[in-house]
Amino acid sequence: MLYLIIFAFGLIMGSFFNVCIYRLPQGDSVVSPPSHCISCGARLRPVDMIPVISYISLKGRCRYCGEPIDKTYPTVESAVGLIYLFTFINWGFTYLAVKYMILFSGLVIIFFTDLNDQVIPDSVLTCMFIPGIVLSAVFKENLADNLLGLLSGCGVLLLIAALVPGGMGMGDVKLMAVCGWYLGLRLTCLSLLLAFVTGAAFGLLLIACGRKGMKDMIAFGPFLAAGTLISSFYGGYIINAYMSIFVL
Ligand SMILES: [Zn+2]
Repeated sequence: MLYLIIFAFGLIMGSFFNVCIYRLPQGDSVVSPPSHCISCGARLRPVDMIPVISYISLKGRCRYCGEPIDKTYPTVESAVGLIYLFTFINWGFTYLAVKYMILFSGLVIIFFTDLNDQVIPDSVLTCMFIPGIVLSAVFKENLADNLLGLLSGCGVLLLIAALVPGGMGMGDVKLMAVCGWYLGLRLTCLSLLLAFVTGAAFGLLLIACGRKGMKDMIAFGPFLAAGTLISSFYGGYIINAYMSIFVL
């Protein structure tokens, strides 16, 4: 029952994050105008806005104009539902569950704004960073480690930005500073590594398939977000497994 409530809460939050994903890159307000169909402009009624269920019952089309609804909507909603659920299962009734829900919420929004519009909104980073600092301070975390994570996260990316002109956006640098604060030094290094490996593999795959050329850019934010998510959940296991294999 509790799991169901957490999952439903995630679906509802995901529905709000969809609004953020569509409006923030355009510089629009996330509260007004009220939700409407982006094809015909019809104002949506509550029955049209039930996460995932409305999408399925409408067979993925607008009730008013019949135009297809972007699959990103149900994807984000179910992703946030599942992420909240697994966060709660992993960290239980602790402040850490809240902390990671805030981090992951921001990461989901940034994953899609960077993927769709190559934008990492400062407002989202601020909404992640401030609660991160407050929670770390209130619950007496190792602030030196938070700071080391922040510095290593943005330091590595700043170095790349300096060495490879146009190779790294400032949004990526700021994103990794925030993630670094949340993760601390060890997990930050792991998420950077995961992001570089998966980003490079994906880039090579796109080039091999002829979808992109050597000079094309791909957004790096989604890889940083995914790397941070994996590192948060499994970083401890991954680092221990690595240590036991390579360091005796
Ligand atoms: Zn419509």
